[in-house]
Amino acid sequence: MRVVVVEGDGIGKEVVPVAQKILARCLPDAEFYPLEVGYGRWERTGSAIGDDDFVALKAADAVLFGAVTTPPDPCYRSVIVRIRQELDLYANVRPVFGKDFSITIVRENTEGLYAGVETVEEDRATTLRVLSRKGCTRIARFAAERAKERDAALTIAHKANVLKSDTFFRTICIKEAEALGVRWNEAYIDAICLDILVHPGRYSVIVTTNVFGDILSDVAAYLSGGLGLLPSANIGDGHALFEPVHGSAPDIAGQDRANPIAAIRSAALLLAYLGETELSSAVEDAIGMTLSDGYATPDLGGNCGTSELGAHVEAALCRVLSGPHA
Ligand code: ATP
Repeated sequence: MRVVVVEGDGIGKEVVPVAQKILARCLPDAEFYPLEVGYGRWERTGSAIGDDDFVALKAADAVLFGAVTTPPDPCYRSVIVRIRQELDLYANVRPVFGKDFSITIVRENTEGLYAGVETVEEDRATTLRVLSRKGCTRIARFAAERAKERDAALTIAHKANVLKSDTFFRTICIKEAEALGVRWNEAYIDAICLDILVHPGRYSVIVTTNVFGDILSDVAAYLSGGLGLLPSANIGDGHALFEPVHGSAPDIAGQDRANPIAAIRSAALLLAYLGETELSSAVEDAIGMTLSDGYATPDLGGNCGTSELGAHVEAALCRVLSGPHA
């Protein structure tokens, strides 16, 4: 089992080693293969990522990723966007859960308004929203499969009352859900952005298009207590990459203040992807125990350092693994 590990820039260098330690405890036989990509490397060498790196990323069973800084330089292409495209990681999955709800937002990751078909003229600018049958079908199927696994309904979030491209998306989602025998319902994207905050317990698996999903998942982040806690998965048919939702946070980098939980939760998603669902739950349980014991980094009102909090999660994990999970 080979896990490629990319720390990246800023707090990626602090939170990823913590998450890797937890992973190593769960997967003692795994080989961890570090890759240096990102802005720091670009400043040093003039190249943020190279062909060899893509070869290594594609050869991995899974990738644990920290965060990369994208400077406002028109010559610089975002490393994470390039990786998502090169590895065709079409499903962006963000779990959001709390006391009475567990929601998985499945966002299409490669097309829609972010397809890059844009023109800027003197008197108008145009961004084309491209939804392909292939793109809609594979994201709809992916989300319907997640709903089926959970014996839950699939919620299709769209704006089909206005956008013809969303009528196309909605029709394909319904077809894929029904083909798998999955119950479905639907919501307008603007309405669900409010309702998910008021009635999170109504939702289980939500599928939506790229920009709508980008916005909805940030709205839903409010439900789980902030950026330092939120993981994400980027999944394609042959590859998968797991990363915290937060970025490289240069304002706190190097100060031992970064919350490592989003990165540790990303490692838990990686474990689930590799089929290690019990270990994945054990890591989540360990995080829950650590937080309820009152250990936290400054963003959550605590005074633990990054690796100190990681050590508490690791100790809790040892307790979980030697308990009923063992
Ligand atoms: P980037 O340009 O890489 O996206 P950013 O600072 O614009 O970086 P984020 O990294 O997402 O965006 O950070 C937004 C703010 O949230 C940061 O200023 C930081 O204070 C806070 N933050 C983000 N992640 C964490 C974390 N893991 N722990 C504590 N605070 C965090």
